[in-house]
Amino acid sequence: MHRNRKAKIVATVGPASSDAATLKAMFRAGADVFRLNFSHGTHQDHKERLDILRGLEQTLGRPVGVLLDLQGPKLRIGTFANGSIKLEAGGSFRLDLNAGKPGDQERIALPHPEIFAALDTGTRLLLDDGRIELQVDSFSPEHADTTVVTGGVLSDRKGVNVPGVVVPMSALTEKDRRDLDFGLTLGVDWIALSFVQRAEDIHEIKEIVKGRAGIVAKLEKPAAIAQLDAIVEAADAVMVARGDLGVELPAEQVPAIQKRIVRVCRRLGKPVIVATQMLESMVLAPVPTRAEASDVATAIYDGADAVMLSAESASGKYPLEAVRMMNSIIMQTESDPYYSESIKAGQAPARAEIADAIGLALRNVADLLDVAATVAFTSSGHSALRMARERPQAPIIGMTPKLATARGLALVWGVHAVLIHDVASVSEMTEFACATAAREGLAKPGQAIAIAAGMPFGTSGTTNLLRIAQLGTNENAAFH
Ligand code: PGA
Ligand code: MN
Repeated sequence: MHRNRKAKIVATVGPASSDAATLKAMFRAGADVFRLNFSHGTHQDHKERLDILRGLEQTLGRPVGVLLDLQGPKLRIGTFANGSIKLEAGGSFRLDLNAGKPGDQERIALPHPEIFAALDTGTRLLLDDGRIELQVDSFSPEHADTTVVTGGVLSDRKGVNVPGVVVPMSALTEKDRRDLDFGLTLGVDWIALSFVQRAEDIHEIKEIVKGRAGIVAKLEKPAAIAQLDAIVEAADAVMVARGDLGVELPAEQVPAIQKRIVRVCRRLGKPVIVATQMLESMVLAPVPTRAEASDVATAIYDGADAVMLSAESASGKYPLEAVRMMNSIIMQTESDPYYSESIKAGQAPARAEIADAIGLALRNVADLLDVAATVAFTSSGHSALRMARERPQAPIIGMTPKLATARGLALVWGVHAVLIHDVASVSEMTEFACATAAREGLAKPGQAIAIAAGMPFGTSGTTNLLRIAQLGTNENAAFH
């Protein structure tokens, strides 16, 4: 079974999509990677969902990717004596460290000392996804006195964003460290780090993860955009986290930043996910708005590796319909004659490195000969990634002896991962590639495929070989 599209779908798992039947239907409808959102749910919830997904992999015979999303340092206010208050524009309001004292009309706890250390007079604080705005008049290490710029009802534990301020905080909280340990024991394929501010945040988590999962940098702080190249270089993949990004920055700036992030990721060959509110109205309705359909299509025309469903699949009324709709929009967009032109327009020159030279040559050969499929023999997944970077027209079969690599490649543009055993020679490799392409329904007898691999086999980082083969037309010749 293979998908007839390049871009991938990440679907968030939640209360609306936790049973085996729904998860299986979602996979069949097009979900390639499942996101376990550790901002919600217990460890037990996530373990049960992961167990179902791993079981599904067995039944369906296809690798399934799992992404663990860490909550990160999402700042939250404390609770009010009466659950909520109403703030009027022009009034005063205090934030302090007094977590033991319930909030009232005058003050509320903000139990994050790092914030008070990073404030300045005039700093803007956005509460409840930007619905309420406060401006700092004066502050100490323990409090801030503010004026209400935009008022409204403020209730318990609402989020606080401090746009434009680099908060001297690690992107990993104590909760994240516990969640991370738990996730690594379970064995997930990707780990997403929220509110990344600098490349060091990525280095810090990588020291803990030690290659056991790929790291996805969630770009949702303006400070991260200022260091975009360094962060993308440091990460294994990137998420355009438009939810928080659109609170930290004016919404009208998000489209250009989204396109810029996709461009940088494509240039550096890092998988990029466009996320949040893609089909938002499907939380409540069985069909999206025209604007939402167009939003998904835009990410596809730009060449993003994946588009993501959040509340639509996790807690909405139509999780399955949302996956189906996203799948149809991607398929329609990719079948537009203008699509490949649009993908080519976003292509940056390859680096002067062997794996890139092979990837580039493979794409040229594949497009020129109009081969049925390209094949990457890949141990770590690196050569499949470098091949995907070139965005060839034919599918990329990522053949790997490592299950973790096959699962990780579920996120990557155009890659259909297949688990194989090690090969020992070029002829065995060619035979395997042809047989696999035929078995997966990606090439027919007589059609050509283009194969990239590295000698010696089984050693990662050795991509140095390009082989063109034609599938045999009779049983005696598997290929020639
Ligand atoms: P979240 O991240 O859903 O974990 O907040 C995505 C976003 O902010 O867009
Ligand atoms: Mn976020």
